[in-house]
Amino acid sequence: MALKKLAEYEASLYGCRFCTMCKPAAEVANLTLIESYTTRARGMMLWRAINGFVKFTKRDVEILYQSTLDSISQAWCVNHYPVSDYIVAARAEVFRMNLAPVSVKEVLKREMTLPYSIESDAIFLAGEAAEFGDETIIKPALGILEKIELHAETVMIMCGALAYSLGAIEQATKQAKQVIDIISQNKVKQVIVDGPQTLWALRYIYPKLDIALPEDIRITSLTEEILLAVQKGIIKVSGKSKKKVFFHDSRSACLLSDKMASDEAIQPGFKGPEEILGAGDIYEKPRKLIDIMGMERISSVWSRSLSRSCGADDGLWLTYPQIAKGLAKQRLQEFNSLNVDIIVTDSPLCQKHLSGARNEDDVMILWLPELLLGEQSL
Ligand code: SF4
Repeated sequence: MALKKLAEYEASLYGCRFCTMCKPAAEVANLTLIESYTTRARGMMLWRAINGFVKFTKRDVEILYQSTLDSISQAWCVNHYPVSDYIVAARAEVFRMNLAPVSVKEVLKREMTLPYSIESDAIFLAGEAAEFGDETIIKPALGILEKIELHAETVMIMCGALAYSLGAIEQATKQAKQVIDIISQNKVKQVIVDGPQTLWALRYIYPKLDIALPEDIRITSLTEEILLAVQKGIIKVSGKSKKKVFFHDSRSACLLSDKMASDEAIQPGFKGPEEILGAGDIYEKPRKLIDIMGMERISSVWSRSLSRSCGADDGLWLTYPQIAKGLAKQRLQEFNSLNVDIIVTDSPLCQKHLSGARNEDDVMILWLPELLLGEQSL
């Protein structure tokens, strides 16, 4: 699963430049009403660049960065063309040529390492929280870990996902190696991650960077641990809440799924079932928890692998905050129209970003551990 160069995606780029099928899912194009942000337009630009017809201009590079990795186009595509992979490859090329925008280079200076000392054989790897840059974000997670009596020491460190998404492959590799060093030098046997993006780094990005995790290591997400604790009765839930809930998946989840959306999902008037929009533990486990709590889950076509970005994904909230805020507002508008009581997400980064964009009368956004901790009062 090694990292490929942009030219190796020529066949996909050739296909994308003639196709407009994923336009309804084009997040930034639909927000800005600018055609250049569609996958087709970017496919055309990249195909021309690898064939030597054009050199990257400043505007080309901006267009390449003013979006997420576009995994939503990949999920919408009936052939699931590897859009997110070729966008990373293009950004890596741009980065090597030292053409990356200033806002991208600035963001990459961001480092966050909370002092840690590891004495237990489990760590709570808070990669999303490190990107957010504020340790208070993980408080609910620590409350839950205490309830479960899972003694995992917090390691809040950039895990490589942000650098990888922005094409800074050397930096991503360095950060990934730091994580591996922490694991192997401290005889850690279990890593519990704070959200899908950190899980994506460990399970998807590290193999691409040819960085192997120690063989006997167990990687789980906080969501999986909570579900297990609830199923074993370690955490008691009343199961009586009748709240209507919409679950927001971050874009990283799509690249961890077993299956992206099937063709039926993109038919006009699609009404479900929700599983058609994507399958795998990354989607099922948090939803199972909500079901156990007795809440009514509502979904829309923009769920699971077709979940529209709230702007917190792939570093966009840091590199182009205005676009990211626009995506958050667009997502909030959608949530409001669903007539639900709460939006729940398993990503602390999405929760913070969405909450930061919401108006007082917008629907409330909770991170899954917060939902559990406040379950009795809902
Ligand atoms: S990703 Fe698929 S649907 Fe989108 S432009 Fe490329 S080929 Fe078409």
